[in-house]
Amino acid sequence: GNIFKSSVSAGENDFARHPCFSESLNQYARIHLPVAPACNIQCRYCLRKYCCANECRPGVTALVMTPVEALDWYLSQKKQFPEITVAGVAGPGDALANWPVVKETLRKIRAVDPEVYLCLSTNGLLLLEYAEELLESGVRFVTVTVNCVEAECGAKLYAFVNYKGTQFRGVEAAKLLFRQQVGGIRAAKKLGLFIKINCVAIDGINLDQIEKVANLADELQCDVMNIIPLLPVHGSELEKEKPPSCEQIEKLRQTCGKKIRQMKHCNHCRADAVGRLKGK
Ligand code: SF4
Ligand code: SF4
Repeated sequence: GNIFKSSVSAGENDFARHPCFSESLNQYARIHLPVAPACNIQCRYCLRKYCCANECRPGVTALVMTPVEALDWYLSQKKQFPEITVAGVAGPGDALANWPVVKETLRKIRAVDPEVYLCLSTNGLLLLEYAEELLESGVRFVTVTVNCVEAECGAKLYAFVNYKGTQFRGVEAAKLLFRQQVGGIRAAKKLGLFIKINCVAIDGINLDQIEKVANLADELQCDVMNIIPLLPVHGSELEKEKPPSCEQIEKLRQTCGKKIRQMKHCNHCRADAVGRLKGK
C-alpha cells in the first residue's frame, strides 16, 4: 500500500531505507533536489551563494533548479541509480523558506514515484507552521539543525532571523529561532515524522552546547543526531574558527550517544548530490 497514507505508524523498516537516518549504506541511495535558494536566517558560518552549510558541503556553489528541471533530473538519475529510495531538499538555502517551490517539486516527484521517501532539511524556523503540510505532502524525514540551546551562544552563531516580516538580531533572534525549533520538532514528532538533529560543532563557540542539544533531542524523542565539524567557509564571518579535532568529535559523539543515536557517516553532500553514501 501507499506508506504516505499512514501518519504515525512508520516502522523501523521505513527508517532503515533512509541512508542518512540508518547506516544501510550500500543498499540505498538518496538524491538531493536543489530547488531551495532562499534562506530566512543568517548563520555566521554560511555564505549565501553557497550551499546551506547545515546540511551540505560548504564552499561549493550549488546550482538551482526549477520544479520541472528537478523532476527531469530525478527521472534521469533514478534510471542510473535504481536503488534511490529517498528524494530530499537540502538547500542551497532553507527548504521551508522556499516551501511553495519545494512543495511543487515534491508533488511532481510523488506523482511519478509514489514509493519514494521524501525528506528535507531546515533550520526549523518555519517547521511549526508547516509540519502538517509536510505530512500531507508525503515528507517522512526531516533534518533540523540545532546548534545550541542557550541564546547567548545563539547570538554568536546567527547574525539575524527574518520572521513574519520582522528582522531579529542578537539574543532575541536566537531565542526566537530556538523556540520555533522546539515547537516545530514537537509538532513534527507528534505527526510521526522522523527527525534527525544536525549540530554544527565549532571549537570555541558551541562545544559546551552540544551535549545540551543531545539532551533536548532525547527529550523531544528525536531519532538520530548528526554532529558535523564546522568546515570553515572562506568569506563567512566565522571563517577563522576551527573545526573541533577528530578526538573532540569522537568524545562528543560518545557522550551524546548515551542520549540519542549518533550518525557517523555524513558525507557533507551537496544540495545536488545523488547516489549511495560512502562509508567511513
Ligand atoms: Fe546558510 Fe543554511 Fe544557515 Fe541558511 S540555514 S544561513 S542556508 S547555513
Ligand atoms: Fe545524509 Fe549528510 Fe548527505 Fe545530508 S549531507 S544527505 S545527512 S550524508
